[in-house]
Amino acid sequence: MSSVLVVEDEQHLADGLRFNLEAEGYTVNTVSDGEAALSLLLEKGQPFDAVVLDVMLPGKDGFTVASELRASGQFVPVLMLTARGRPDDVLRGFESGADDYLPKPFELSVFMARLNALLRRREWFQKDHAETDRHPSEPVTDEVGSGPAEEVFAIDGKTIDLGALELRTRHQTVRLTLMEVQLLRYLIRHEGKVVSRKAILGDVWGVHEDTDTRAIDNFIVRLRKYLEDEPSRPRHLLTVRGVGYRFVAGSR
Ligand code: CA
Repeated sequence: MSSVLVVEDEQHLADGLRFNLEAEGYTVNTVSDGEAALSLLLEKGQPFDAVVLDVMLPGKDGFTVASELRASGQFVPVLMLTARGRPDDVLRGFESGADDYLPKPFELSVFMARLNALLRRREWFQKDHAETDRHPSEPVTDEVGSGPAEEVFAIDGKTIDLGALELRTRHQTVRLTLMEVQLLRYLIRHEGKVVSRKAILGDVWGVHEDTDTRAIDNFIVRLRKYLEDEPSRPRHLLTVRGVGYRFVAGSR
């Protein structure tokens, strides 16, 4: 049975979500502010399968909660509840580590569908990983572009394991958020081709509004820190001025 933490200060909405989630067989905890959420998720280490996180909260807002979770190495899937008509909220949400978003007000059926999809995606990633599990000392032989089914890629002595949501170097393992993994997978799939910021926004983020695309640049900066030997002189995640980005597996 999946357990969900609902972080929502509007009591009637929190109650409604709890009622509907419980009806679907979920175990539900609700808290009404960000501090309480962080304390449950970090200090008490209570395991949740997903977090429903409102943006507008008393005290710490949803953006802060999400970034503190990610900064502390807590990678539970987060569905963020944003205000309608605020694409900036959506981008800020993804930047702070949310995995999906839903603008308020929303239909409960849509909410359930999005949450179920998020949980399925998580399970799917984990299942993928279990099936392709290999011993850490085994050499990774697949190079980028070896096929869509393979989820483990090697670049410059680093291993990108999309199924495990992590990137491993000789010295450390970096945990990736679902969104970082989706962006990486998208770039890998389009290896060698120029992808526009707008295409990334639409295909990876699901944002189709004509909106600011800077959030993508921030993601790329982060991915470069993981991937590139010299992030300021990237050899794989290249900027194509005025258009977007191009991912190249080998250095050219
Ligand atoms: Ca609120």
